[in-house]
Amino acid sequence: MKNQYLETMPDKNGYFGKYGGSFLPPPLEEPFQKIRQAYDELSKSNKFINELKYIRKHFQGRPTPITYAKNLTKFCGGGKIYLKREDLNHMGAHKLNHTMAEALLAKKLGIKKLIAETGAGQHGVALATSAAYFGLECEIHMGEVDIKKERPNVIRMQILGAKVVPATHGLKTLKEAVDSAFEAYMKDPTNQLFCIGSVVGPHPYPKMIRDFQSVVGFESKEQFKELTKIDLPDMVAACVGGGSNAMGIFSGFIDDDVKLYGVEPMGKGDKIGEHSASLSYGTPGIMHGFNSIMLKDKDGEPAPVHSIGSGIDYPSVGPEHAYLNEIGRTKIGLCNDDEAIDAFYRLSKLEGIIPALESAHAVAFVMNYAKQNKNENILVNLSGRGDKDIDFVAENYPI
Ligand SMILES: *Cc1c(COP(=O)(O)O)cnc(C)c1O
Repeated sequence: MKNQYLETMPDKNGYFGKYGGSFLPPPLEEPFQKIRQAYDELSKSNKFINELKYIRKHFQGRPTPITYAKNLTKFCGGGKIYLKREDLNHMGAHKLNHTMAEALLAKKLGIKKLIAETGAGQHGVALATSAAYFGLECEIHMGEVDIKKERPNVIRMQILGAKVVPATHGLKTLKEAVDSAFEAYMKDPTNQLFCIGSVVGPHPYPKMIRDFQSVVGFESKEQFKELTKIDLPDMVAACVGGGSNAMGIFSGFIDDDVKLYGVEPMGKGDKIGEHSASLSYGTPGIMHGFNSIMLKDKDGEPAPVHSIGSGIDYPSVGPEHAYLNEIGRTKIGLCNDDEAIDAFYRLSKLEGIIPALESAHAVAFVMNYAKQNKNENILVNLSGRGDKDIDFVAENYPI
C-alpha cells in the first residue's frame, strides 16, 4: 500500500485508537452524516482532486519550496536545518490548504454559507478568502476582546466580504466565539457549513483536515530528496495548536523511519493558565465533540491557556496527535514564549524570513535539537509568516 498508515487511520467511526469519534447533539447527527458521506465520495472523485490541484497551483501558490537555512545551520553549529515554506501560501499560512477544500466541499453540498469562529483571526481570514473565491457567504464569530486586539485581521475579513459577529458574553474571547458560532450554526445546520480550523472536532473533521493538509508532507518528501539527494530527513518538526500543520507535514513521513516532533507552547510557565501544552500536561476527556487529551480546570471545564502564538493557544489537541503520541510514533518538543521570540528574531536576521510566532516555536525547538544532533538532517514546517506579529513583537519585545 502506498500510504499504509493514512489509508487505515482513523477507523470508519473516526477513531485513532481510543481518541476521536463524534459526540454530537441529536439535531446535528443528520447534517454530520451528510458531511461524512459527501467527503467520502469527494475524496475518491478525480474531479474534486483535480479542482483542488488547480486551485493550489493557480491561486494559492503551491508547491511551496523547501529552503536550506544555511546561516541558521551555521549559527547552531550542528545538524542541517531545512524549512518547508508554508509562509509562502497566499495569505501567509498553511490554513488555505484546508479552508479552500472546505469551501469546495460546501459548494458540492449545495451549501451557500460558511460559518466559523476565530481566535486571533487567522482562520477567519483564511475562510473569508476561500468564501470570496467561491462566491459563498461567510460569517465569522469572534470574541469582543479579540476584535479589539486583532484589528488588522478583522478589517481583512471585512474587506474580503465576511460578516464578523462579536461574541459579547463571558470573557469575550475564543471560547465564547466557539459558543456563539455553534449557536448560529445550530439554527440552520442544513444551509450552513461549520468550517473547523484544525484537525479537531467531531469525525470526519480530524481526518478530512489532515487529508487536505497532507499535501505539505507529500511535497516535502519529494522536494527534500531533490534538494539534498538524500532519501529522507532524520527528523521532522512542526508546532502544534490543534495540530493541522503538524499532521500535514507528518503525513509524508509517517510510514518511514523518520523521527516526528510536535512542538507545544510552554508560554510563561508550567502552571495552569500559563501555557497551552495540552499533550504534555493534559488528561483524557471529551470537548468540542471529540475525545482527546485536554487541559482542564478544577471543574473539568477547558482550562485557560496562554501562548504568545495566538494560533496555538488551544486547551486540547487533535485526536490523532493524542494517539500517535501514546503509541510513541511522535514525540513532544517544548518551547516557551522567550525562546520563540529569540527564534523569531534569529530566523529573520539570519535568513531574511520573518516567521509567524506559532512557527517560531518549531524553529526554536529545532535550533536546540540541531546543536545536540550534529549529523542529522532536520526539516521544520514553517507554518506561516510573521507580518501579523510585528506590531506585537516590536511593542513587547523591542530589538
Ligand atoms: C493557526 C496557525 C497554527 C496552528 O494551527 P495548527 O492546526 O496547530 O497547525 C500554526 N501556525 C500558523 C501560522 C497558524 O496560522
